[in-house]
Amino acid sequence: MKLSKRAQNLKPSVTLAASAKAKELKAQGLDILSVTLGEPDFSTPKNIQEAAIAAIQSGKASFYTPTAGIPELRQAIVEYIEKYYGLTYTPAQTLVTDGAKFALYALFQVILDEGDEVIIPVPYWVSYAEQVSLAGGTPIFVEGLEANQFKVTVDDLEHARTTKTQAVVLNTPSNPTGMIYTKDELQAIGEWAVAHDILIVADDIYGRLVYGDAEFTPIATISEAIRQQTMIINGVSKTYSMTGWRIGFAVGNIELIKAMTDIASQATSNPTAVSQYAAVEALTGPQDSVETMRQAFEERLNKLHALVVEIPGFTCAKPQGAFYLFPNVKEALDMCGYTDVTTFTDDLLNEAHVALVTGAGFGAPENIRISYASDWDTLEETVKRIKAFVEKKRQK
Ligand code: PMP
Ligand code: GLU
Repeated sequence: MKLSKRAQNLKPSVTLAASAKAKELKAQGLDILSVTLGEPDFSTPKNIQEAAIAAIQSGKASFYTPTAGIPELRQAIVEYIEKYYGLTYTPAQTLVTDGAKFALYALFQVILDEGDEVIIPVPYWVSYAEQVSLAGGTPIFVEGLEANQFKVTVDDLEHARTTKTQAVVLNTPSNPTGMIYTKDELQAIGEWAVAHDILIVADDIYGRLVYGDAEFTPIATISEAIRQQTMIINGVSKTYSMTGWRIGFAVGNIELIKAMTDIASQATSNPTAVSQYAAVEALTGPQDSVETMRQAFEERLNKLHALVVEIPGFTCAKPQGAFYLFPNVKEALDMCGYTDVTTFTDDLLNEAHVALVTGAGFGAPENIRISYASDWDTLEETVKRIKAFVEKKRQK
C-alpha cells in the first residue's frame, strides 16, 4: 500500500514507543523496570471516579456532546483559569480536547500554512515538532543551554526569527528538563512575541507540579498584551492523575478557538463524554488530592536526585517541577565507550532491564530522561541497576 509522504516522514512518539517496548518485554516474562512514561502512578481521585460513574448511570454520558465540550466543563475551565491564573475568559474562548495533545495538534493545524515556522526550544517534548510538520509547518529548533537550565533567551529567539515565524512554544515547567522560567524571563519573551506578533503557545500542563521554593508564573498573566498573544494549553492528565481519560483544553483567542473547534468537529466529534463529566469534578471539586500527589512527587524527586548524581559520569541540576530527571550522561558514555546515547539506553534495556527514554528523542544527545511518576521501590532499584551497569561497562 502507498503511504503518504507525511506518514513516511512522521516519527512516532519516542516516549510512547519506549513504554510500549518495556510492556512488551515485561509480557514476555522479563523483569523490566520502566521509568519511561510521564504518567502519574496514582489512581484517579475517588470523587472524580464517582462523578464519572454518576454520569454513566444517569445516562448523560451516552451521547455525543458539543464538539467544544459540555457547557459545564467550559464554564469550569473559565473558573479554573480565574482561580489559578487570575484571568477572566468567556466559555467561548475555551475548547475541550482529547488530551492537551490534541489541543496542540488542532492549534498547529489552524495557524500554519506550508513553510510557516514555529520556534521550538530544545530540549523539547516529543510531539511539538512532529505536529508542526504534520500541519505543513517547519519546526525551528533553538537550543537552551544546559548551563542556563536549558532555557532559551530572547537573544536566542531573535536569532531564529524570520518573516515566516508564526509561533513559539513555551513549556514551563518543562518536559523533559523539569526547569521553570522565571517571571522576568517570561516577561522578556512575552514582550518580544508581542512586538513581532508571534503567537505564544503556552503549554502549562505541569503548572501545578512545582517543588521547593520554585514558582510557576503562567506567561499569560504577565500583561494584557501578552495574554492576547497567548494560547494557553492545559489539561487534567498530570495534575489529577487522569492520563487515560484524555481531557485537555485550550484557552485564548476566540477566532483560533473557533477554527480549532472546526478541526475537532471533523477529526474527533467530541472528547469522550464520561471523561468530560469527570473533568468537571476534577477542576471544581476538592483539590487536596492534588497536593497529596505533588508532595509525593517532591519527596521522590529529593531522594532520587540525590541517588542519580551518585552514578558515575552522571550530572544533573535539580529540577523545579514536572516529574522528570534529565541527567547529562556524557561522561558515563565516554567512560563506557558509547558514542551514542540511544545505544546506551538500548543496552540498559536489553542488559540491565531498565527502560527509560533517550535524550535524543528530545533533541538532547547527551541526556537521558527518567520519569519519577513511578513508585519509590521501582525508582530505587532503577538507580541501582543503572549504577551497576555503568560500573560493569567501565571496567572493560
Ligand atoms: N504537553 C506536555 C509537555 C506533555 O508532557 C504532555 C504529556 N503527554 C502533553 C502535553 C499532553 O498531555 P495529554 O494529552 O495527556 O493531556
Ligand atoms: N507526556 C508524557 C511523556 O512525555 C506521555 C507520553 C506522550 O504523550 O508522549 O512521557
